[in-house]
Amino acid sequence: MRVGGEIVYVAVGANLGDREATFAAVIESFESERDLLLLAASPVYETAPVGPGGQAAYLNAAIELRTWLAPLELLHRLQRIEARLGRDRGPDAVRWGPRRIDLDLLFYGDQCIELPELVVPHPRAHERAFVMLPMAQLAPKFRHPVVGLSVAEIARRQPDKGDVLVWSRPPGWPGNRADVGESREGG
Ligand code: ATP
Ligand code: CA
Ligand code: CA
Repeated sequence: MRVGGEIVYVAVGANLGDREATFAAVIESFESERDLLLLAASPVYETAPVGPGGQAAYLNAAIELRTWLAPLELLHRLQRIEARLGRDRGPDAVRWGPRRIDLDLLFYGDQCIELPELVVPHPRAHERAFVMLPMAQLAPKFRHPVVGLSVAEIARRQPDKGDVLVWSRPPGWPGNRADVGESREGG
């Protein structure tokens, strides 16, 4: 088994097109990427949209990966997967507008990174129920390196938890930790 690397968490969101198919494609993408190992996935949630009005609801989840990529390399890898899955980043793309796929780097171990292109922990993660509820299922004890609380505690404090509802598991989405990642190497 390959050693070292860093544990990272990525938020997955989609509110355009076949959201469940996109979620399945995200899992396939991560399983085929070099220097990335998918370890676990949270349950999937459906979330009332934020941002410009009239949008469709999002599916949201979080995934845990081990990576041997540096933070910016990982961001660029996420952006490449977004592009492959049909993310439109053209000049007409609206900020927080509808999108087929959004992959945000939430945490890169306990590192704090502030680059023009990349801020980690993701600066809005801790105030979003649709990020913290999945994170709390995935890694409840993980401590937010800036806020200083566990993600379970941050999730508990979200005022708008009621807008984030458990969704049925999309076909191709891992059911639990035993379904993915390093466990395969044991069998
Ligand atoms: P939000 O970041 O509020 O969730 P968004 O996901 O809609 O908004 P995007 O349009 O997907 O924002 O990304 C805008 C820019 O954010 C990207 O070009 C990227 O360089 C930058 N960025 C900074 N920090 C991060 C991060 N932790 N994860 C992903 N992108 C980031
Ligand atoms: Ca986002
Ligand atoms: Ca994003």
